[in-house]
Amino acid sequence: MTQQDIAEHIQDVMNRYTAGGLYEQMGISPRVIELGDEVCDSLKERFALFDKTAQANQLKVIGAMQKNRISAEHFNGSTGYGYNDAGRDDLEKVYADTFHTQDALVRAQITCGTHALSLALGANLRPGDEMVSISGKPYDTLEEVIGIRPSRGSLAEYGITYSQVELKEDGSFDFDAIQKALKPNTRLAAIQRSKGYLTRPSLSVEQIAEAISFVKELRPDIIVMVDNCYGEFVDVVEPSDFGADMTVGSLIKNPGGGLAPMGGYIAGTEECVENCAVRLTSPGLGREVGASLQVNRSLYQGLFLAPTVTAGALKGAVFAANLFERFGYRCIPDANERRNDIIQAIEFGCADGLKRFCEGIQAAAPVDSYVTPEPWAMPGYDSDVIMAAGAFIQGSSIELSADGPLHEPYAAYFQGGLTWEHARFGILKAFQKLCDAGLINGI
Ligand SMILES: *Cc1c(COP(=O)(O)O)cnc(C)c1O
Repeated sequence: MTQQDIAEHIQDVMNRYTAGGLYEQMGISPRVIELGDEVCDSLKERFALFDKTAQANQLKVIGAMQKNRISAEHFNGSTGYGYNDAGRDDLEKVYADTFHTQDALVRAQITCGTHALSLALGANLRPGDEMVSISGKPYDTLEEVIGIRPSRGSLAEYGITYSQVELKEDGSFDFDAIQKALKPNTRLAAIQRSKGYLTRPSLSVEQIAEAISFVKELRPDIIVMVDNCYGEFVDVVEPSDFGADMTVGSLIKNPGGGLAPMGGYIAGTEECVENCAVRLTSPGLGREVGASLQVNRSLYQGLFLAPTVTAGALKGAVFAANLFERFGYRCIPDANERRNDIIQAIEFGCADGLKRFCEGIQAAAPVDSYVTPEPWAMPGYDSDVIMAAGAFIQGSSIELSADGPLHEPYAAYFQGGLTWEHARFGILKAFQKLCDAGLINGI
């Protein structure tokens, strides 16, 4: 090829790209490409806001790493008992400084978000204590942790009682009911930031801050724990900035930035975090043990990327809401609502719509794109569930993923995308699948 041939070839590729050529090759029709461009153009201001948040959070994370003098040695892992693992120990300091807490426990041995929450509760409650959830029904997997559904090893088996205060109709805290629910033996109040698989709105950090100070003013002795799953870096502040004793989450969601291969974190007061450390390993051993093997680098680098990855996921969520709402599908949050987490629910009203959506997300994945997701009877659910995930890390939901139970209102819950570009492609692919099935009216 001559230089001119090369230049022409490049121009040709660029033209095809800007005209949607590459999208077309990837199975998106010209009309859908055009719609996607329109929606993107209408979202410039909102996207700029997400970028601004990412900028602030990026500096927060870098500042925490610099303050703790992170160096190449921190990426060396440990084996066996894991004594003197500076990488592991200083990562916990970096988390504490990022979340503005006294301390943090960030471990590969915390297997997932449910485990982190279970640990936080089990480590800080004693027989005879009561915990109260003040944001209504907690996430499904916590039902067995608490013993709402009887389960082996639940808190209930250890004589820890549970009560629940519903959110008000509009999704806000019911302060009168919270006050009434606090008993002399109430030891811990739990708040869940994200809606999980419910259709209530997710709570903002401001709302959570108000609830924390309400509880603390009445009863400074009560520990407040916030389930922060999917909320990290969505805002420039976290619940831990407003007096939460423990802020808890999963590393295969936002704070792992897609690179953390496993793990969970608990950021909070020295007292609460120390209780978690001795509970995770053993009394007397606490945080001194726990080999990090080779994961330190991924946990650092993932945290470093987390602010921008989260911003990309937020763009994807808002893009989807704006695209699908245009064609009459109910979106939660809706197209214009403020975001408090990265989850987007879309109600399809029929099984076929939900299935097509998941097929599209799957077909756009970098991994396992050739498989077709099928509904199946998952343990713990009362109807079949369909899931789409083509992830580098098993079950990672900071990567583009979608799922939903096959019953009314046939809602897909989707989240993630390690890059906005992938999220956009996945959503267009899903939209295309619905178009092809005749489920998009007026296109
Ligand atoms: C994901 C999630 C959890 C924990 O789930 P794991 O799958 O165990 O990591 C807990 N609470 C909420 C709100 C979540 O979104």
